[in-house]
Amino acid sequence: MNLFFPTDAAVADNTLPIEKAPRLWMPKRVVFTAEAINEPFGQKIYERISGLNLPIEILKNNRITGLRGETERETYKLAKSTLAIVNAPAGHFKLRPIPPSADFQFHLAEGCPAHCQYCYLAGSLSGPPAIRAFANLPAILENTTNYERLDKLTSFEASCYTDPLSIEHLTGSLSETIRFFGNRPSSHLRFVTKFDAVDPLLNIAHNGNTRCRISLNAEVASRRLEGGTSGIAARIKALRKLALPKEQGGGGYPIGVVLAPIMPVPGWKEEYAQMLEQLQQALNFSSNLTFELITHRFTPGSKDVLM
Ligand code: SF4
Repeated sequence: MNLFFPTDAAVADNTLPIEKAPRLWMPKRVVFTAEAINEPFGQKIYERISGLNLPIEILKNNRITGLRGETERETYKLAKSTLAIVNAPAGHFKLRPIPPSADFQFHLAEGCPAHCQYCYLAGSLSGPPAIRAFANLPAILENTTNYERLDKLTSFEASCYTDPLSIEHLTGSLSETIRFFGNRPSSHLRFVTKFDAVDPLLNIAHNGNTRCRISLNAEVASRRLEGGTSGIAARIKALRKLALPKEQGGGGYPIGVVLAPIMPVPGWKEEYAQMLEQLQQALNFSSNLTFELITHRFTPGSKDVLM
C-alpha cells in the first residue's frame, strides 16, 4: 500500500489535512504528576498554563491514567490532546551519542502534538502518544555538563523525541535551554522544528551557541503528510527571523535547514525547486547556515506501527 501518497479519494474525502494555518497547539487536558508540581520549574510551567485558562489536573501520585479509549483511534485522539507534566525518569540522565547529528542527545519532552504520517516517534516511544514535558529540566540541563568533552566543542541535540518549539508556549523549556547553553562556550545546542512560533526565542542571549534548524519539504508532501504543523511558507519566514541579525529585529542565530524526509513526489524536481527558491528569497543576506538532507528509514517494524 502506498503510505506516503494517499489516494485522491482520501484527499477529496477530506480525511487528510490540506490547508494548515500556523497556530499554537492547545491541549484539551493538562495533567501534572505529584512530583512534577513540586519541582520549581514545574511551578513555572503551572503558572504559564494557568494563564492560558486550560483545564489542569494535579495528581496525588505519579501515574497518569485516562489515556486509553475503546479503540486505537480513540486512544490516539485522547493521548494526542493531552499534555502531561512529569519528571524525566532516571534513564534520561544517561545520555546516548547520536552520530552524525550531534555528540549526545537529551530530552526536554517526549511526544509531539503534530500528526506527521511518517513520524518515527510512533515506533520509538511506547504507550499512548501523550505529550510529556519534563518538570525537572534544570537537573536535565545540569546533567549535560557531565558529558562535555575537554578536547573539543560538544554538541547536544534536543529534538530526538519531541518537536521542542511545538510546546514552547506551554512550557518555556526551549527558551530555558537556549539560555543555559548561552553560558557554555564549550557546548553547542541543536534543535529542529516544523513550527513557526519563534518570536519568544529572538531576544534570548544565546551567544551563538544554539543552532536553530527548520525542517522543510516540498509543499505537496508537507500538505498531505504533516498534519498539525506550520505551513512551509511560515516555516521559511520563521527561519529568516531566527537568522536575521539582532539589530534588524531577528534572533541572530546560526540556522539550519533539515530537508526531510525527501520524497519522490510526482514532479519532485519542480516541487523541491520551488521550495528552495522561496528559501533563497527569504535568506537574501549572509547567514551561518547548514543543510541536512535526510531520507526515511521505513523499516518493517515502523511500517507496522505507522499503518
Ligand atoms: S513535527 Fe516532528 S516530532 Fe512532531 S509529529 Fe511531525 S515528525 Fe513527528
